[in-house]
Amino acid sequence: MTRKEQREEHKHKMDEIHAVAQAIVVTGKCPDCGRALKRNLSIAGWWQCEQYGSEQFRADPSKPSCDFQCFTE
Ligand SMILES: [Zn+2]
Repeated sequence: MTRKEQREEHKHKMDEIHAVAQAIVVTGKCPDCGRALKRNLSIAGWWQCEQYGSEQFRADPSKPSCDFQCFTE
């Protein structure tokens, strides 16, 4: 495979990953636990479950955490 082909294949894979993530984000719901998704503004296109991370970051600290995240860009 040439370098150009490798680059194109990589871009194609990223496009697919982003398309899958976009389809999840438009639902507004985490596919793992069903809670809402929120955007993390520290990186472009970064979305996380609202229950992501340690207690102070979760929408509801009394509920278990969820590690779902995805990138749309
Ligand atoms: Zn979740």
